[in-house]
Amino acid sequence: MKNTTQAGITVYGTHWCPDCRSSKQFLGEHQIPYHWVDIEQDKAGEGLVLQKNQGKRIIPTIVFDDGSVLVEPSNAQLAVKLGLKTTATHHHYELIVIGGGPAGLTAALYAAREGIDTLVIERAALGGQAAATERLENVPGFAEGVEGAEFSDQLRQQAERFGVEMLQAQDVLHLRRRQNYHWMETADGSAYSAQAVLLATGSRYRRLGVPGEEDFIGAGIHFCATCDGPFYKNQPVLVVGGGNSATEESLFLVKFVGKVTLLVRSAALRGTQVIREKALSHPKIEVRFNTEVVRFEGSGGKLKAVEIRNNQTGAREIIHPAGVFVFIGLTPNTAILEDTDVRRNPWGFIVTGRDLIHDGQPVQGFEQREPMFLETSVPGLFAAGDARQGSTKQVASAAGEGATAALLIREYLKTV
Ligand SMILES: Cc1cc2nc3c(=O)[nH]c(=O)nc-3n(C[C@H](O)[C@H](O)[C@H](O)COP(=O)(O)OP(=O)(O)OC[C@H]3O[C@@H](n4cnc5c(N)ncnc54)[C@H](O)[C@@H]3O)c2cc1C
Repeated sequence: MKNTTQAGITVYGTHWCPDCRSSKQFLGEHQIPYHWVDIEQDKAGEGLVLQKNQGKRIIPTIVFDDGSVLVEPSNAQLAVKLGLKTTATHHHYELIVIGGGPAGLTAALYAAREGIDTLVIERAALGGQAAATERLENVPGFAEGVEGAEFSDQLRQQAERFGVEMLQAQDVLHLRRRQNYHWMETADGSAYSAQAVLLATGSRYRRLGVPGEEDFIGAGIHFCATCDGPFYKNQPVLVVGGGNSATEESLFLVKFVGKVTLLVRSAALRGTQVIREKALSHPKIEVRFNTEVVRFEGSGGKLKAVEIRNNQTGAREIIHPAGVFVFIGLTPNTAILEDTDVRRNPWGFIVTGRDLIHDGQPVQGFEQREPMFLETSVPGLFAAGDARQGSTKQVASAAGEGATAALLIREYLKTV
């Protein structure tokens, strides 16, 4: 959501404070401009924090245009202050979509266009990972590419035009099946129910957790070779990871880049033998074992150097790749399913459709029919996008799965 009227927001905090990072991230996700004051560097800023908190150094302290102050706010409190919609008009809907990324918003707009009463509940900002991506070059229909934020904003407006109701900064915490409807509770204690639910909660790339990483994501550090590899034509890049995806993505990247240095923390590559052999013998891939990233450094918002360390000898080195690709796994946002009957694979991704049927035996609850293509092991509960086992982790495919799920849900709703 673009909001240029909030330019007067000032966040007072320190660089090491996690709650400060969370508030800044929330404002950033909603594209709300703010001033950042590190009170360890700015005496006047520290003075203001002490004054606003009766002599206590409580951070983040956030001062708004109108002079009002929020101290250590939750995202939900921030959302209310910023006028974002956080509670729904009704308690019951035909369809509730959990997650407002490309899969969820596309499903919602398709469903609403079919006349299905639809609510989207999003825990952060609408747009999901796509909104946080600087530029999308491979979304169909955008010949020159599109900023992730612009794409997400268009998607939100389109969903709004078809009458989708959308909540932001509302985390769905619990999900239950009750007879032939589904019930859920959000972080603010509200309860909602629906005849059908779409799980479009996405996933997140695992991070290395080293200094500098957060600062250069999208500005030199990437998690998707298909998306960002072509930016580094004929240049040297660093790939971090020792499993199949790091090795496969290195083999993909050498089609564009000048050279890949593959950094492997352990003494060997894991994964399929044939892929390992290809990578090890490729003239443009240098594999460095027992080596890990210590920190990322840069200036002007751009990555400039990477400090690496051999974990056997302790030797450190500074290298200067043009870009870094981190492939150390994906974590699906499926923790809310932990105490439900929704089947997930060993990595937490949601299993749907025919993948649920292994030995020809019906899944419990599906004695009369097979689960539909994007239906989970719980009838009426569907999944689409990155959180689903077998999804391809791309905007176009997430949106495609969202559209397909909406049309399947339309058929399902005729039966309940
Ligand atoms: C840095 C980066 C660059 C990328 N570049 C490209 C690219 O160039 N091209 C491309 O095609 N793809 C790219 N991708 C991948 C693409 O963004 C994803 O495949 C796509 O966004 C997946 O869509 P989704 O709707 O399934 O999930 P997401 O986009 O992850 O959206 C899921 C949403 O669900 C919300 N959510 C999760 N749990 C809950 C809960 N309990 N309650 C409420 N809400 C919840 C999350 O906050 C999130 O907003 C990139 C990804 C990243 C991280």
